[in-house]
Amino acid sequence: MAKQNKAYKFRMYPTDEQALIIRKTFGCVRFVYNKMLAERKETYECPKDDKEVLKKVKHPTPAKYKKEFEWLKEVDSLALANAQLNLDKAYKSFFKGNAKFPKFKSKRHKQSYTTNVVNGNIQLLEGRIKLPKLKMVKVKQHREIPSEHKIKACTVSMSSSGKYYISILTEYEMEIESKEIEKVVGLDFAMDGLFVDSEGEKANYPKFYRQMLEKLAKEQRKLSRKKKGSSNWKKQRIRVAKIQEKVANQRKNFLHHKSKELVMNHDAVVIEDLDMKGMSQALKFGKSVADNGWGMFTSFLQYKLKEQGKQLVKIDKWFPSTKTCSKCGSIKEIKLSERTYQCACGLDLDRDYNSALNIKKEGIRLLASA
Ligand SMILES: [Zn+2]
Repeated sequence: MAKQNKAYKFRMYPTDEQALIIRKTFGCVRFVYNKMLAERKETYECPKDDKEVLKKVKHPTPAKYKKEFEWLKEVDSLALANAQLNLDKAYKSFFKGNAKFPKFKSKRHKQSYTTNVVNGNIQLLEGRIKLPKLKMVKVKQHREIPSEHKIKACTVSMSSSGKYYISILTEYEMEIESKEIEKVVGLDFAMDGLFVDSEGEKANYPKFYRQMLEKLAKEQRKLSRKKKGSSNWKKQRIRVAKIQEKVANQRKNFLHHKSKELVMNHDAVVIEDLDMKGMSQALKFGKSVADNGWGMFTSFLQYKLKEQGKQLVKIDKWFPSTKTCSKCGSIKEIKLSERTYQCACGLDLDRDYNSALNIKKEGIRLLASA
């Protein structure tokens, strides 16, 4: 038996009074996070060179601030405790070299807080959820959570257009039988669209999605021409936020659909272990790499495959998938402008298709040697 996690996200409809408490909690979490960060920053900035010493420094906790700032007691204390955990995590990944130094949170960040299940403080009932400090909040539960799933934590968030959501993290035990691997597919990440697979198929975003992106760009241009802070600007900002939410939903649906399709038809999926952050910086694609949804897509693939005892194989990011001939295995430089891979052995193939074939081969090699 293996423990699995699954999150369910639902729209939430708090009363005005509850919404006020929720927003207050966002503020308190941010306040505590920033306070702790400021204190830890001081200790970080004095003995700059000794990371080992820094790791041993005793860190501030939310409890410390409650004496000084009484109003912190009015909100869910677990939410404040989670702010501390998040900051610890941010520091850890900074020390490991996986992330930049933690930043202060501003109101412009995604507004959210996380709370945990302790002694029945959280309960999901018919159309309602009981949450600390809020009591019963109305939710639109569009899908059932299986009874064997145990709720572990909940994250309350507010979108920039002012909608409230709750993401319920559950844990359950599952018996997974490993599937025998017969059908393997390799995916080559594609900047435009999503990927090209080792059968030569391109996964392109649907037309309605691309149209929505165009609409978003248009409305964003309109927003930039309006006077900041004016009532027209405020109206337009909400319009933009609503389209952004729609775009994000469409993208997510598409990624769910594509990953489901792949998992249904294959026993193992091979991808390159790409460092998206590094890549978008190096290639100056900036935001578009993140918007492309590759990271979300691979996480969907990962859990969908795992649920069925199938495998996601990640090959080394330095593997020369683009430079290798998928027919004879020779390696050569290929310019970004060359759309096909042409080799002395006679191979003449779309460059992404060629890469996907190499990725598949490398994946099979790794699976065989595991
Ligand atoms: Zn060749």
